[in-house]
Amino acid sequence: ISNLNKTYKSAGRLLTVLDNINFNISEGSTNAIVGPSGSGKTTLLGLCAGLDSATAGIVELNGISLSNLSEDKRAQVRNQYVGFIFQSFQLLPTLTALENVMVPLELRGEKNIKARSLDLLDKVGLADRGHHYPAQLSGGEQQRVSLARAFSNSPKILFADEPTGNLDAETSEKVVKLIFDLNREAGTTLVLVTHDLELAAKTHRIIRIKGGKLVADDKTSNE
Ligand code: ATP
Repeated sequence: ISNLNKTYKSAGRLLTVLDNINFNISEGSTNAIVGPSGSGKTTLLGLCAGLDSATAGIVELNGISLSNLSEDKRAQVRNQYVGFIFQSFQLLPTLTALENVMVPLELRGEKNIKARSLDLLDKVGLADRGHHYPAQLSGGEQQRVSLARAFSNSPKILFADEPTGNLDAETSEKVVKLIFDLNREAGTTLVLVTHDLELAAKTHRIIRIKGGKLVADDKTSNE
């Protein structure tokens, strides 16, 4: 991303949420974005993943510039390359756990969707919960369904917003392992927004945001 800016208009006033952010994320690397509440981390992640568009600046994903793409085209790029885990899970409430995992595969017009989605649910330890609706699952279970859904299109890059934020220590450890396994086994690039400094310390690089500005960008000893 280069010279990235995001401004919101609220109550007739302009609010600059991201101010001239620049960085490159290398393929196969693991990265944490940290910073105080309200500093712009979620906004930044959404722009990097093509969920939202910047006010100014460039976001390139796998060599494709997202800046001038229509929402439809951005969605195609997302389906092809991106997995996203949301802070609040964002499962579709009217679909079962299994159907939620099937959605990205359906969008890509793939085959053996049901069997593959069941395998993914099995991977996150929820093979027996496929028929449950999100409201019938605990927070940790919903987070793991959301993880299975994010894995289902074999993303080149996984963006996760507070992937462990709502989880107990044990479930959190499981989720972190699944995410890092994806990096080790499939080379998936990871970009994690987190308040959990222990989790951040497991990555190759920690990017710190404060008041919408990038204030530090440090390699860790995991490189
Ligand atoms: P947290 O750690 O609390 O999740 P964050 O660093 O992820 O915070 P963001 O969610 O990116 O912060 O929000 C950054 C700022 O932008 C906040 O001050 C927020 O109030 C503001 N903001 C976010 N979305 C909007 C919007 N749609 N309209 C106006 N302001 C917004």
